Amino acid sequence: MTVPFEQAPPTLGNQYEDDRVLRSYLARVCPLEMLREIEPSLSELGRLAGGELYQLQLADRLNEPRLTQWDAWGNRIDRIELTAVWRRAELIAVEYGVVATAYERKHGALSRVHQCALAYLFTPSTDIYSCPLAMTDGAARTLLASGNQQLIERAVPHLITREPSEFWTAGQWMTELTGGSDVGLSETVAKPGADAREFRLYGRKWFTSAINSQIALTLARPEGNSPGGRGLALFYLETRDEQGRPRNIEINRLKDKLGTRKVPTAELTLNGTPAQLVSGTTDGVRNIAPLLNITRLWNGISAVALMRRGLALAFDYAGKRVAFGSTLAEKALHMDTLQGLQAEFEAAFHLAFYVAELTGRSEAGQIDEQDAWLLRLLTPVMKLTTAKQAVSVASEVLESFGGAGYVEDTGLPMLLRDAQVLPIWEGTTNVLALDTLRALGHAESLEPLRSLATRLLETVHDSQLIDLGRIALSSLDHAETWLKQAQATSRPHLEAGARRFALTLGRTIELALLIRHSQWSQDQHEDLQSFLATARFAKSGVDLVTD
Ligand SMILES: Cc1cc2nc3c(=O)[nH]c(=O)nc-3n(C[C@H](O)[C@H](O)[C@H](O)COP(=O)(O)OP(=O)(O)OC[C@H]3O[C@@H](n4cnc5c(N)ncnc54)[C@H](O)[C@@H]3O)c2cc1C
Repeated sequence: MTVPFEQAPPTLGNQYEDDRVLRSYLARVCPLEMLREIEPSLSELGRLAGGELYQLQLADRLNEPRLTQWDAWGNRIDRIELTAVWRRAELIAVEYGVVATAYERKHGALSRVHQCALAYLFTPSTDIYSCPLAMTDGAARTLLASGNQQLIERAVPHLITREPSEFWTAGQWMTELTGGSDVGLSETVAKPGADAREFRLYGRKWFTSAINSQIALTLARPEGNSPGGRGLALFYLETRDEQGRPRNIEINRLKDKLGTRKVPTAELTLNGTPAQLVSGTTDGVRNIAPLLNITRLWNGISAVALMRRGLALAFDYAGKRVAFGSTLAEKALHMDTLQGLQAEFEAAFHLAFYVAELTGRSEAGQIDEQDAWLLRLLTPVMKLTTAKQAVSVASEVLESFGGAGYVEDTGLPMLLRDAQVLPIWEGTTNVLALDTLRALGHAESLEPLRSLATRLLETVHDSQLIDLGRIALSSLDHAETWLKQAQATSRPHLEAGARRFALTLGRTIELALLIRHSQWSQDQHEDLQSFLATARFAKSGVDLVTD
């Protein structure tokens, strides 16, 4: 009797133990003692991510958050019910200190890297619970930077606690109907209350994610202020009163979205919501910048985390699926396709974690002027570059499963839908490309970037890697020549090329970081995989500038 065909599904092992890229990176940047200290919890989280949480995520696939606006007696309650994965994810996030680690600073400037490693392992199995965590982290950083002692004492301990019953998450309410990119058009008005810091907010917020959060940082225009971004102020508010009732906030509906469907993203009306000034009655856009820098870092870490998840599943499946007499893993073309995606992932990984390193050094007060400038420039560059890579890798990952990649109950389509938000929120690709130009100011030279690339390449002694380094340097030269010409031509000319320019900077620094790591990996007698990814990436279109 013939045995009916059965297809083995892809499975995941311990997502820390199996991750060559993460482990090799941490071995390079962390002192041995630190690595010994942090590895047990990374390994436990890796086990959860590849096991229990992944299974829960698949089982909870059809659940979505629910909004109940009215109770049986006609009272407005606007209650949100979260999904099972989100409830579990919150507990795990607090227990493993996925936010707290960055603030406890047990490992000085490297605490951010440690935290990002936790976030990277946590993210792909927790249905974008990374969204409220990112905003919570960003709110803690913003409040600390504001120097507003009263708000720091009131909120920050909740945001960075390891005690689940004390934990608060934060929302970030910027986008209005008038625009998410051009927030200067915001129409929400702040009317003064009894004391100088108390205000009441009136207006509509058009995208507010993780609306279950206990607090939010938001922008509003104090009455009488000038139009535009400068006239907006940054406000802190608590969303519900002691009885759990919304504080003059109506949740009009939850968005029906392409992806991130487990994230309750709401449209709100603020009807006199009590709020406090965070710092000053103007310059809200500038004052919320620390939050955006942190959420953009999280965006990059999420991008690499989703790519890694897709590839872990795709490589596993390649060993299980048979076509034309052998497994896909034995097909040169299939593996070549996956190796191309792996190269994109590794490049993105090193850029995202490099920005984590710079962020950590800045937070620890251990950053010089040049690296502070690099952090300012590379934050938008990293966010826009890695987000684009995540979407294209996720799309190819689906194809690598054939029809199964298009079928919902494999859990695979969610990867693409969730990745698609990464280039949109926290600043679209174009908006961040323009921000990259802003970061450069009127500078015509890319000298600090060239000096970074030179520093990264100076330890390289393998002749093939030296050759690949030349690709990075010539790509920087080209970007610089273009910048000079475009600045001398016209503003529209400069803006039209800004996306290609910013992506070129991102991919160039990714290549230089990959080369540096490859050399280190070779010196440690690790296998050739890092080299192969580097060589592949170098030939995959680094310089995108067109003259
Ligand atoms: C799932 C999801 C959750 C979100 N959660 C939140 C949240 O919690 N809080 C929040 O505040 N916002 C949130 N947003 C909103 C998000 O940040 C905005 O959608 C985003 O910033 C873009 O703004 P917009 O939608 O108004 O698009 P627009 O600003 O209208 O942009 C439309 C297009 O124009 C382009 N564009 C705009 N300006 C320029 C320019 N000067 N030059 C060239 N191109 C330009 C953009 O790149 C984009 O492609 C969320 C969005 C999504 C999808």
